[in-house]
Amino acid sequence: MLKKIVIPIASIVFFSACNQPKSADTTKADMLQSNIDTTINPADDFFEFANGHWIKNNPIPASETSWGIAHLVGEELYQRKLKINQDATTAAPKNGTQQQLSDFWTTAMDSTKIEKDGIAPLQEELAKINAAKTPADIMNAAAHLHAIGVGVFFGEGVGQDAKNSEVMSYQLAQGGLGMPNRDYYFNTDERTVKVRNEYPNFISKILRLSGVDSSSATNKAVAVLALETKMAKASRKLEALRDPYANYNKMGMAQLKTTAPGIDWNMVFTGIGLPKIDTVIVGQPEFYKELGQLIAHEPIQNLKDYMTFHLVNDYAPYMSQSFVQAKFDFYNKTIRGAKEMRARWKRVLDAEEAAIGEVLGQLFVKEYFNEKAKARYSDMTEAVRKAYKGRIEKLTWMSDSTKQKALAKLAAISKKVGYPDKWKDFSSLKIDRSSYVSNMMHANNWWNNYSINKLGKPVDRTEWDMTPQTYNAYYNPSNNEIVLPAGQFTVPGFRDEELDDALVYGYAAASTIGHEITHGFDDEGRQFDAKGNLKNWWSKEDENQFTKRSAVLVKQFNNIVAVDTIHINGKSSLGENLADLGGILIGLDAFKQTDAYKKGQKIAGYTPLQRFFLGYSLGWLYQIRPEQLASQILTDVHAPAKFRVNGPFPNVPEFYEAFNVKPNNKMYLADSLRVRLW
Ligand SMILES: [Zn+2]
Repeated sequence: MLKKIVIPIASIVFFSACNQPKSADTTKADMLQSNIDTTINPADDFFEFANGHWIKNNPIPASETSWGIAHLVGEELYQRKLKINQDATTAAPKNGTQQQLSDFWTTAMDSTKIEKDGIAPLQEELAKINAAKTPADIMNAAAHLHAIGVGVFFGEGVGQDAKNSEVMSYQLAQGGLGMPNRDYYFNTDERTVKVRNEYPNFISKILRLSGVDSSSATNKAVAVLALETKMAKASRKLEALRDPYANYNKMGMAQLKTTAPGIDWNMVFTGIGLPKIDTVIVGQPEFYKELGQLIAHEPIQNLKDYMTFHLVNDYAPYMSQSFVQAKFDFYNKTIRGAKEMRARWKRVLDAEEAAIGEVLGQLFVKEYFNEKAKARYSDMTEAVRKAYKGRIEKLTWMSDSTKQKALAKLAAISKKVGYPDKWKDFSSLKIDRSSYVSNMMHANNWWNNYSINKLGKPVDRTEWDMTPQTYNAYYNPSNNEIVLPAGQFTVPGFRDEELDDALVYGYAAASTIGHEITHGFDDEGRQFDAKGNLKNWWSKEDENQFTKRSAVLVKQFNNIVAVDTIHINGKSSLGENLADLGGILIGLDAFKQTDAYKKGQKIAGYTPLQRFFLGYSLGWLYQIRPEQLASQILTDVHAPAKFRVNGPFPNVPEFYEAFNVKPNNKMYLADSLRVRLW
């Protein structure tokens, strides 16, 4: 829950095969040079300078809400995964994994059968909701929906206890909303209002497709929105969710009953499939107080309509075209600005990834990832760790005692590279050819039980929360670990050995490795100790210095207008912005130790230092639709791509040197206004 995932557009990690800085293939254009817009002064707008030419020549496809380097990698991953599925389908005889992939793929691609089935695969579940007559029935039905992956009314799950990372705990959080987050219910800017006005029409459409008559569907939709608005009002804002202490409220069952009266929690937990539990960690108690009120006092029919809508909405992507289209029109078109749907086979691969991604991953790494890449990545991580150590030792604002603890935490960060040593066992998951919906339902239920099964057992620190083919990475504070899946090694169009060190250090060492390590010391991660426990190891004065110095970055980002008149939220994006800035600084320190930097040879007209900054910016080669931008500001703790370049760079002294940035340039920041933290 607390980990910082680089979404939705992570940087790629890849390695040069050796320390030779020169491109091996002289017939290929230089990757960095060919993206540059030479009409832009890098000292005025570095992002547009570094990426502008590519952006002009690569418009966003109609099916996408943004387009950039992650998508180019994604296209390659799609082809690889397609082949794995096709091979499994034609294999004879099939082993267990091939049977699962083959049945999943064949059923999901059979659009004729899916059209013919219509609402039928959900009929049994709809009947369960319809049978509810009392608030207790409602919560019973809600518990069952949670067990099949439909998060009605609230959020829940099993995770490490933030204050005792050796223990798995059951946790409750705010949730249950149909729009992306609570701000969509209240913000008054034009884009949000448009989405909010469209939402009841969408709810009504889903209800009608589910069999509700048109005359009552409209009123029911209005009631569902009203219900969700009450839940949204009791929900915390994005930035308030960043305080790990305020979102940690451990309580016994008696206290939970007082916190959210009107709900029989023992019954709910049994329905979800939990063993008997004594304590629960509640993220936002005030949300649960409001929920208790709603369940006790709302008309039962409203609660049933709300559950019907959420069930069908969650399973719509696996149903007939009218359901798929309705869902696409609201979430992808209205909210995020896409023009048309992705091809069916790609949508199926996305669903398969969520359901049984690790099954796919075992085959993926066998074919596409080797030990050599794993070793290179590990070495680069150590170089970055060493650079950070050097920085911490030299800090003038941090006391010696806090420094010792910071260094111990840094040394203790564990790294996971490529793919897990131990795979999850999916053999008990039933995948057959009855329906796409039932396969997804079985998978959701499998995941529910898999996670519940961790309660009362020792924490498995070897576990991965991402599949190896994922194009992403994360830092997990409870394990004090960084996790980098093999998918990050995929580079479209280039082999590792064709990439010079300057590019790679900007691209991988700074924007991914350094970024993830710095998360261990950002505004949230720094509150966890070397063992992964939420426990203060900072002196008061050091803490004050950290807050004062990082407040400079909050202010810088608050001043940035991302789209229309919408500013970036400096507080909710602080952790990511600190990780970006820290990543650049330590990635650069590590780069300075390489021969490529020391020799200073230009490649394609640019010095090693210049190519480091260009390489970093390549990781943020994106363009984004305005609808998607507006949505990202409300829901994502990451700043939009452009500002992950133009935001941190003015705080980096070497940037001024590399591109001759002077006081009259737009990227210039007076010395007194720069962030001085790491
Ligand atoms: Zn991050």
